[in-house]
Amino acid sequence: MAIIVAKFGGTSVADVERIENAADKIKREVERGNKVAVVVSAMSGVTNRLVGYCDAISKLQDLREYDTVVAAGEQITAGLMALALQKRGIGARSWMGWQIPFKTTEMHGKARITDIDPTEILKRMEEDEVAVIPGFQGVTERNRISTLGRGGSDTSAVAMAAALNADRCDIYTDVDGVYTTDPRIVPKARKIKKISFEEMMELASLGAKVLQTRSVEIAAKKKVAMQVLSSFEDRIGSDLPGTLIVKEEKIMEEQLVSGIACSRNEAKITFIGVKDQPGAASKIFTPLSEAGVSVDMIVQNISHDGQLTDMTFTVGRSELTRALDAIEKAGIECEEVRSADNVAKISIVGIGMISNSGVAGTMFEVLSDKGINIEVISTSEIKVSVLIDEEYAELAVRALHTAYGLDAAV
Ligand code: ASP
Ligand code: MG
Repeated sequence: MAIIVAKFGGTSVADVERIENAADKIKREVERGNKVAVVVSAMSGVTNRLVGYCDAISKLQDLREYDTVVAAGEQITAGLMALALQKRGIGARSWMGWQIPFKTTEMHGKARITDIDPTEILKRMEEDEVAVIPGFQGVTERNRISTLGRGGSDTSAVAMAAALNADRCDIYTDVDGVYTTDPRIVPKARKIKKISFEEMMELASLGAKVLQTRSVEIAAKKKVAMQVLSSFEDRIGSDLPGTLIVKEEKIMEEQLVSGIACSRNEAKITFIGVKDQPGAASKIFTPLSEAGVSVDMIVQNISHDGQLTDMTFTVGRSELTRALDAIEKAGIECEEVRSADNVAKISIVGIGMISNSGVAGTMFEVLSDKGINIEVISTSEIKVSVLIDEEYAELAVRALHTAYGLDAAV
């Protein structure tokens, strides 16, 4: 007997038929003698619609009310899934985030889980009841409904798996695994059989939409074995050759670059002529962090005259309005603030970079050969990201995929 958390994403529960199909998979997992907790997303498109309603009223909305609205999508799926399981003779009930509870921080719109109490769920598991849990939802210390940020159901699932000490967390989705890059951009992209937590974390945070970054962070920290697999194939759980996310030492075949990510969810803000003196950066970034805006890539130029400098950084595209509003309110001294959202971030990721030099050089050479200008660069031990004009995003990804030998043989 194993404890398994099975998470179904939006397209896997897109309509009643898909929910019934997911319920069949859960039933078979139960019939194998496993204890199962199910985590569900909102039916595909629903969260976007709910976000749209909020935005239509105000772009600068009260995020507590935003959470109340957008958390509703998962509630519907959880109830429907419980019904579908009951119809199959399986004892099942739904649990809202606040009922478990999934305690979170007060950072509405992208709260973090602080604590989960699994006692009651474990007790019911012993009685062969399947818990159906809406992903994405939590409750704050102040007893308000919170959400975990877009894609947060993955994080709910992994956190639940950690709390239940589960043997595996299966993430069912509409693709059969994690690919070297988006197959819609590069048809020759390959499915990765095994990838390290670190690489997956980078790929996820860099815009590979298959998993929310935070979910991989928690999986790495709590040592939760994760698997990404398709709900559209007629097999279940461990039979399926999905993508396993494992510890680095379990990976045999080492590539210099394991994957390439492309994120269009970027916007760039440039401060022209800010004073080149201590405290300048904190005057810009403190108000942004107070407004809940996450800043990503940052470049500061050296000043030519020792007085004024330019600073460019990126924020999530959906946070641009909030960021510009915070900047205006802070009244930061500068000549001009410019912003643009026609940029894309292209990143190469691979554990192999740690022990091999020249990986970044190849990237810059490939882009220069294609005449693509790099606006901002940022690096970590296992990744290199560049910000480029969005227009060239696909060209860049294709060229890099070939250059690093990732194309599938035809
Ligand atoms: N429904 C939420 C979203 O679309 C959470 C999730 O599906 O992971 O972002
Ligand atoms: Mg998702």
